[in-house]
Amino acid sequence: MKILYSTIAIVSLSIMAEICPTCGLPKDLCVCSEIDREQQRIRIRLETRKFGRPTTIVDGINDKNTNLASTAQKLKGVCACGGTAKNGQILLQGDHREKVREYLIKLGYPEGNIELQ
Ligand SMILES: [Zn+2]
Repeated sequence: MKILYSTIAIVSLSIMAEICPTCGLPKDLCVCSEIDREQQRIRIRLETRKFGRPTTIVDGINDKNTNLASTAQKLKGVCACGGTAKNGQILLQGDHREKVREYLIKLGYPEGNIELQ
């Protein structure tokens, strides 16, 4: 049954992406994203961009196992602000460093790996 399940999962890979590209296991068995979270170092910093608007920039989230766009989407909800994901970074309008940090910890990123600047 297990073998059959794997075969089905492999067959459906192109449609459903149920197989982890890193370890080749079905996603429900895969722990890559957990390991990944433990290995990543995330930087949250504030930059003042054009027109003097502060922007919170989240850097270092590995987009291999994390959907940056949907993480950005959730962060926008948590911080009630505008924002976007691009070039492997999440940009949020305003200073939301503390909220972003709390949210990432909730997602399972180790506190010690998140650097607040
Ligand atoms: Zn995996």
